[in-house]
Amino acid sequence: MIKLLEPQFTVERIWGISPITLKKMGVTTILADLDNTLVAWNKADGDTDFFEWHNLLIKNNIQLIVVSNNTTSRVARAVKPFGLPFESWSMKPFPRGILKTLKDFNLNKDEVIMVGDQIMTDIIAANLAKVKSVLVKPLVNTDGILTKTNRAIANMVLKNLDIKWEKDLVERNRN
Ligand SMILES: [Mg+2]
Repeated sequence: MIKLLEPQFTVERIWGISPITLKKMGVTTILADLDNTLVAWNKADGDTDFFEWHNLLIKNNIQLIVVSNNTTSRVARAVKPFGLPFESWSMKPFPRGILKTLKDFNLNKDEVIMVGDQIMTDIIAANLAKVKSVLVKPLVNTDGILTKTNRAIANMVLKNLDIKWEKDLVERNRN
């Protein structure tokens, strides 16, 4: 059970993930959660960090696809300035949304990473879909009411995992 909850990587912010590291790992595509991973959950739009990092990805030919449980209108609005493809209503922790995205974009499991701020949705979905799972710190600490219970469970898991937050992707030692 614990393996399902365990992220392969733990990174402080998604913008810390460098194209150079991704290329070394053979990663062509980042699947990213939206709320509290790319954009603060209580804001409609992205920040300058997001813009700068996205430009870096474009320069390096790394694809970014949003895989979110949120509504189509919320996701469409947030990704519009970036012109990002997205999968909304993705139903994480079920792997369905990730697997559909892999199929739609003709991607292999080993060339993608799934990045998100929630163990109970993003990390479980990534692990079930058998793609590399990356946990980031939530952009803001306050929570939407729906995620509070998930966060409480996740905090218990984090305590047991002895998490070290890295700046970029660094493989964790898993026992
Ligand atoms: Mg999130």
